Amino acid sequence: MIRKSLTPLSNFVFKPSVQVSSFAPSVWSEFSPLAMKHKSINLGQGFPDFDPPELLINALRRTLDQGGFHQYTRSAGHMRLVNALANTYSSLFDRQLDPLTEIATTVGASEGLFATIQSIVNRGDEVILMEPFFDIYTGAVLMAGGELRYVSLKERGARGADGARLASQWQIDWSELERAITPKTKMILINNPHNPTGKVWSREELMRLCDIVKRHPNIVLVSDEVYEFMTFDDAKHTRVATLPGMFERTVTVCSSGKTFSSTGWKIGWVIGPKPIITAIANTHQYIPFSVSTMSQEAVAVAFENAGKQGYYEKLREMYQGKRDRLFKGLTEAGLDPVCPQGTYFILADTSKIKLKGDQGQNTSITGIGKHLRDWNVCRWLTTDIGVTAIPPSAFYSDEHAHEAANYARFTFCKQDQVLDNANKALLKLNKLY
Ligand code: PMP
Ligand code: GLN
Repeated sequence: MIRKSLTPLSNFVFKPSVQVSSFAPSVWSEFSPLAMKHKSINLGQGFPDFDPPELLINALRRTLDQGGFHQYTRSAGHMRLVNALANTYSSLFDRQLDPLTEIATTVGASEGLFATIQSIVNRGDEVILMEPFFDIYTGAVLMAGGELRYVSLKERGARGADGARLASQWQIDWSELERAITPKTKMILINNPHNPTGKVWSREELMRLCDIVKRHPNIVLVSDEVYEFMTFDDAKHTRVATLPGMFERTVTVCSSGKTFSSTGWKIGWVIGPKPIITAIANTHQYIPFSVSTMSQEAVAVAFENAGKQGYYEKLREMYQGKRDRLFKGLTEAGLDPVCPQGTYFILADTSKIKLKGDQGQNTSITGIGKHLRDWNVCRWLTTDIGVTAIPPSAFYSDEHAHEAANYARFTFCKQDQVLDNANKALLKLNKLY
């Protein structure tokens, strides 16, 4: 028998904290579940559908067999990993990096960004993001009490000689950036190579950015470089921290999830000058305290061997092949794609798709984004064409979401057969235009 409670009706009322009150399920809660529900080919969320390289798997096996990596490790970073990172990145940064003070490991780049933003941004400080931006940045800024300001990357320049749209056409208006900077600006956050456009910032563009940043002694530049080893053709990835006068004011954020195709391991790191990395490492003590020891040991071993085994070249070659495969498919499906110089994403143009009635609106899992064309198109692509993409307005402020109306973002970090199946399914679009 269930006893009736003698306590009066509860007076408990839950209200989330003010700083998170605007948070709701994000684009990731909508599209992977929707793809699963409709058995659609998921070219939405960027995670490889293949296992990490043997280099990493063997390192993990050996680490497990060896034993002794099951307890907490050094909070600011497992020694073997920070040493391996200092060895790898010192040549890439053209300076000897101190593994103890200029590098800290984090729970993926996500926590790296979160800890960085909490360590730098005061209540009321302004943070400038370049739209479209990876969606996670806004949450971290709001949790720090910062104010968001936006500058847009827009498709501006000319197409390539062969008529293809190029990621390098996505450029910022420098005067717009200068106007966005105020005495309250504390941080500018860039992503290079850039998700979702696939742009790799040119050295000239970065020099121009740095000239502006260096005029403001309080501004820290955060450069999210998680796709650092995925660049194609002759695109050259310049690390903004290596430009004159920039190391002291730049935090570079990286992720082994991308480099070693292991997004679920959540191993990331931040690289920068001692005062900033010290602040981030101190903050990190109060977030996860430390990062998985076993995984850090394995990632360290992978880094120790990657260069010798030509791993980075193989990674580039694999992804360039996959990019070409999907790019061809999107072109043949009439989606006029933007050719990426880096990352594992392609933006495609959906303007020829004409949705009828409430197509794409009634299949929502989370109920969000119903009023936005790109969300409806991506839902309809999932349910009616069998291929899932991400609506890029998730990477814009509400105010500018309409700029993404005619785009969809497809990822090519999938097996070739899966890309071929997606390409075949997308050909159905040609009959519907
Ligand atoms: N930055 C960008 C631009 C990303 O695409 C991702 C991928 N989720 C992250 C940061 C986060 O990386 P991680 O999975 O290592 O947290
Ligand atoms: N970075 C990946 C993307 O942009 C995954 C994002 C996520 O799962 N939060 O698709």
